[in-house]
Amino acid sequence: MKDLKKVLKPSRMPDHSGYFGEFGGRFVSETLMEALYELETAFKKAWSDRVFRKEYQDVLTEFVGRPSPLTFAEGLTNHAGGARIYLKREDLNHTGAHKINNAVGQALLAKRMGKKRLIAETGAGQHGVATATVAAKYGFDCEIFMGSEDARRQSLNVFRMNLLGAKVKEVDGGTKTLKDAISEALRDWAQSVLTTHYVLGTAFGPHPFPLMVRSFQSIIGREARQQIMKKEGRLPDALVACVGGGSNSLGLFHHFIGDASVQMFGIEAGGRSLSEGDHAARFQGGRVGVLQGSKTFVLQNPDGQILRTHSVSAGLDYSAVGPELAYYFETGRVHFDAVGDDEALQAFDTLSRLEGIIPALESSHAIAYGIRLAREMGRGKILIINLSGRGDKDVLEVARLRGEIS
Ligand SMILES: *Cc1c(COP(=O)(O)O)cnc(C)c1O
Repeated sequence: MKDLKKVLKPSRMPDHSGYFGEFGGRFVSETLMEALYELETAFKKAWSDRVFRKEYQDVLTEFVGRPSPLTFAEGLTNHAGGARIYLKREDLNHTGAHKINNAVGQALLAKRMGKKRLIAETGAGQHGVATATVAAKYGFDCEIFMGSEDARRQSLNVFRMNLLGAKVKEVDGGTKTLKDAISEALRDWAQSVLTTHYVLGTAFGPHPFPLMVRSFQSIIGREARQQIMKKEGRLPDALVACVGGGSNSLGLFHHFIGDASVQMFGIEAGGRSLSEGDHAARFQGGRVGVLQGSKTFVLQNPDGQILRTHSVSAGLDYSAVGPELAYYFETGRVHFDAVGDDEALQAFDTLSRLEGIIPALESSHAIAYGIRLAREMGRGKILIINLSGRGDKDVLEVARLRGEIS
């Protein structure tokens, strides 16, 4: 990797058409193109406006509970027997994960744009709950698209969204999961754009979504950087985060991208195995293609048919990945690896018992890899793992997997 500062100056990316190197762009119909231009203009104006930034920060403080702590994980550090491990505690945010950082930002933006209605896609339901939450707070009508299979598996989150006043629209097409929910949300948006803002939940989709979501999530790394400087007096040696679409990882990485001494690790879902259909590791088995408005790494067969995916964690179970991460993969700035279901479930247990923190199954992938990495790095090094969410939503599923309930 040559001249990191020049190649990877994140403030210069994406370019004006929404490209990170060859990845990203805006592959959508004419109707949506207009909506995306309007959104891009509104976002860029708001993001450079001190009044907007202050309002956003105030809501993060007063409503979300930020800054989230950077906790030294003594038990986990001793267990791994190597680098000092810190956890960035996104699990302590209101609604239980990092998704709320982005939902708050987009809701404030939609308010500015005069929109009356929010729509969103959701897989496990975390982003749906976050969007329903901000819709309730700011008085938007709200409709959440969710695959009918996901709605069945995550009935508790469906109930939560209903409590918050949102309507959950079950999508019966395709595999009845996240990909189909995104398609349906894009279809709705194309017809309702005058009144409606589409709150996309991860750093994916057509420009400006990857830029906007990464920007709203970059508070994670901004805080982590200040916190580690205060606690250790220097930058960390490595960062680890799990990768679904890429929002919690990019949120942590963004303010460290230019620091060559900080290694970064993105962890995908290795599922049951790395055979076709058994995992969601796009950088292991994927090829460059276009899906849902963005050019990126996609799990597809040679005919371009999108492959089925599997992961024990719904939040990582998706066939494409955000374009900015595809660029960091190609340039080697971020290392990618996969952690399988079993190792993630083991880390779920380990963190619960050693730290008194029950992590989300998504985050458990990062914990598992963090344990391996800390051991390899050895003593004297510093590692930050992003704990993207809490495990409350997953405890029933884990009990089911262990056969403790049916
Ligand atoms: C949604 C989710 C993820 C994966 O999404 P990213 O956009 O890649 O961050 C990870 N962890 C939790 C807790 C989630 O809810």
